[in-house]
This record gives sequence, C-alpha cells and structure tokens, in this order.
Amino acid sequence: MKPRAHQKHRILRGAWRAFLVLCAAGAAAGPAAAAETAAVPASAPADCPRCPEWTESQKPFRVYGNTYYVGTRALSSILITSDAGHVLIDAAVAQAVPQLVANIRALGFRVEDIRLVLNSHDHFDHAGGLAAIQRLSSAQVAASAPSARVLMQGHSDPDDPQYGSLPRGPEPLAHVRVIRDEETVSVGPLRLTAHLTPGHTPGGTSWTWSSCEAGRCLHIVYADSLSAISAPGFRFSGSTNYPSAMRDFEKSFAILAALPCDILLTPHPEVSDTLARLKRREGGAAPDAFVDPEACRSYALAARSDLQKRIAQEQPSR
Ligand SMILES: [Zn+2]
Repeated sequence: MKPRAHQKHRILRGAWRAFLVLCAAGAAAGPAAAAETAAVPASAPADCPRCPEWTESQKPFRVYGNTYYVGTRALSSILITSDAGHVLIDAAVAQAVPQLVANIRALGFRVEDIRLVLNSHDHFDHAGGLAAIQRLSSAQVAASAPSARVLMQGHSDPDDPQYGSLPRGPEPLAHVRVIRDEETVSVGPLRLTAHLTPGHTPGGTSWTWSSCEAGRCLHIVYADSLSAISAPGFRFSGSTNYPSAMRDFEKSFAILAALPCDILLTPHPEVSDTLARLKRREGGAAPDAFVDPEACRSYALAARSDLQKRIAQEQPSR
C-alpha cells in the first residue's frame, strides 16, 4: 500500500471508531450506560463489494417468544433473551455493529447483558462484528474447534474452500471456548445445542433451541450456510486441503434434514425467506409464516442439489 493511501486508511479507521463510540453512547439507555460503552473501539470495517448492500438497515423484530432478529437486511444476527442474560448468534460485518447495538437497544435490551456469543461460520460477514460485541458485553465467545482457531488467528486456513478469495479478517479474538458436536451451552434458563454442519467451512455450526409463547414451545434452527462456494481452482470433489469436504456436506445435509424444526433461520436471511415471511406475517397471514416444519428439510435438499450441480461441473470433460 502507498504511504498516502495508508494514511487515508488510518484516518478513515479513526473516524469509524469515533462513529461507533457515538452510536453506542447515543443509543444507550442513560449516562451510566454511555460511560460504559464510550471507550470501546470498533474493528476495522470489512472491505467487500457487497458490504453496502449487506449492511442496509433492518428494523429489529421478534421471531418467536424470546428469539429476536437484530441483524441488517442481508446479514442475520439473532438475540435470545432471558432475565439472567442473553445469547447472540453471529455479528455480521464489523461496520454493522452500531446497527446491531441500536437494534438490540430499540427492543429494550442491553448489549452489556449478552453473556454468550455464538457463530455459524468464521467468515468476515458473520464473524466480523464478534470482537466489538465481545468488547461491549464482555461475553464469552464459543465455537467449534476449527472455527475457534480461525477466530483467534483472524484469518481462514487453506482448508476453507474460499481461502484466498476472502476479504481480510475477522479481527482476532483473544479467547474462544471450544464446543463439541451436540454440546449444549447455557445462559441462565437458556439452552442452545450445537450441531457441527461443516462443508461451507470446516468449522460450520448450526444451533438449535426452543422458544415459547403462551405455553406453545417451538423448535428453532439457525442452520449454517450450506453453499458450495469456493475460490478459483478449489474442487469439492477432490481437494488435498479439505479432503472430507463432500463427506462433511453429506453429513450436514442429513443432520439438518432430520432436526426437529418449526422455524428455520439462516446467516443470510434471504436463504430462509426471513424478511418475506415477516412481510407475510405483518400482512396478517395465518398460520404464522415463520412456522414451517418442512423448511429445514427443503433447505438441506436444495443445498444437496446445488452441491451435485457443482460437482458435475468439476468433472473433467471427456
Ligand atoms: Zn461464508
């Protein structure tokens, strides 16, 4: 990078940090909360072609019971609340953190009350805001072993199908608690279970929990991305860096298709029609457009068919 460009970058980064501090302070409940968040520095914004579109603002809303959507229009961030503290899953790109913070506060909750932060996969567009959220809340971050390694080193490894084509980041985290397949994590009365669903990345993780409204409890699944996307040259059908890619995907499809699933949420909300379902609900659709017990199975089947198409393209032509 040229010195002038470097200097400009530093100035922009400084302005960005001040912006987050102002946003956090402005959205806080009172002077005490403002003082709490005033010293928290943000992470450097991700530089990606689709970031402006991905960070368009979205009004936060209740999905069901104590489960809320607090993300942007195109990047999910899910808050599960309790009187003993909250759980947040995914934190979008770094520059979306002020929006996530404002969305959480608009719902009447405090970022400082987040006790545990979970992640679907370690790419910049779902993990980029984790470091800033952790600083704001002092929450523990928990992830699968491969994801924890990436989150602590701040970059993907060559076994990631998109290795080499990803923007820089996410900002490294000092400590990530490693969770195992089927492990249940808890905050107060909240219980969430991890399901390792690798393929999109080696550490990909889906999360399940139950939320209740008036005594009716539903199974909610936050299913990780299952798209077979890669950097040029990577072959899902035969990678020396990630030899188990296809087997991993098949295992993940089977897990997700079989999960008890009333409501499906995904890191990219359009994949599970989240905002379209919200519109139908707001239009008075009955039954509730979010409740769709076939959604997980359909999601897994569509992803399997996409992988098969991709594998067919990878075969050498005869
Ligand atoms: Zn990804």
